[in-house]
Amino acid sequence: MKTHSILIGLCAGLLLPLVAFGQGHGHGHGADGHDEAKAKTGELRVYLADSSKAPASLDGMTAMVIVEPEGGKRRVLRLKLVSPKGTKKTGLGHDGEVRKAGPYYVELVVKEAEADHGGGHGEHGHDGGDATPYFAAKLALSGYTCGMKGHPVLSKAGKCPKCSMKLKVTDLKFSAVVVLRKKGKTINAKGFKHPSQAPKDFADGLAQIAKHIKTIQGLIDSNQLLKVHPAASKISQISKLLPPMAPKGKEGAVEATCKAIRALFSEIDEAGDNKRKKEAQAALDKYSAKLKELKAYAR
Ligand SMILES: [Zn+2]
Repeated sequence: MKTHSILIGLCAGLLLPLVAFGQGHGHGHGADGHDEAKAKTGELRVYLADSSKAPASLDGMTAMVIVEPEGGKRRVLRLKLVSPKGTKKTGLGHDGEVRKAGPYYVELVVKEAEADHGGGHGEHGHDGGDATPYFAAKLALSGYTCGMKGHPVLSKAGKCPKCSMKLKVTDLKFSAVVVLRKKGKTINAKGFKHPSQAPKDFADGLAQIAKHIKTIQGLIDSNQLLKVHPAASKISQISKLLPPMAPKGKEGAVEATCKAIRALFSEIDEAGDNKRKKEAQAALDKYSAKLKELKAYAR
């Protein structure tokens, strides 16, 4: 399908890989040495839910997103309305970042799209829960850089004008503000950041999970139970990235623990949504126990 694709100014600073937003299957070729010849593109999706987190009607609604690549110029992108076929309606929880915005919840998801190979069948990739309508824009999320701090990111392959090293494909990190309008009323959702900090290695992943657990603990302690969703969602994202980073021989065990971690998500999310403090705490304690397991594998 032809979607109008919008290029973000390719002038960002140093960036993290977008792996966190893939569909779960690992990248395969991890190592730095072999970069694909093409910059990857991604699709930005904005899901909308009402106060009960059920999909909200997008009738009469327009959306745009103000994207700011790290170190780059901000751009305003208009978003196209997409209404996938199918009867299954899903709420939020597509692994993006969720924010309360006025009477709505807004979720921002970046999907990694295959490079522009034209590849035939077009419509593949209907992952289970995508019957929920959303606003979307195609983004060129990558640029070319030598990887050195302060050196430019360019839109074409070649040599770095500063150090003349060969340029490699790099993914862009950006923040975004979604602006939704309905009947002249504007709703802003601020503070989205993509990609969220992907872990550098196994230890870093564990440290990030520990940090999010601490955040959730703070929210539980201060009775802000409705806010546990984003941190818990981030833990789930990180858990998807950990198994390939696991110490040798521990991949399988780490995978199992990470799966168990993701299974805890709905538990803590529901407890949070229903303001059940005890249950949220119980779920968080399970998170902590799983983190302990992961730490044991690191030794
Ligand atoms: Zn350079």
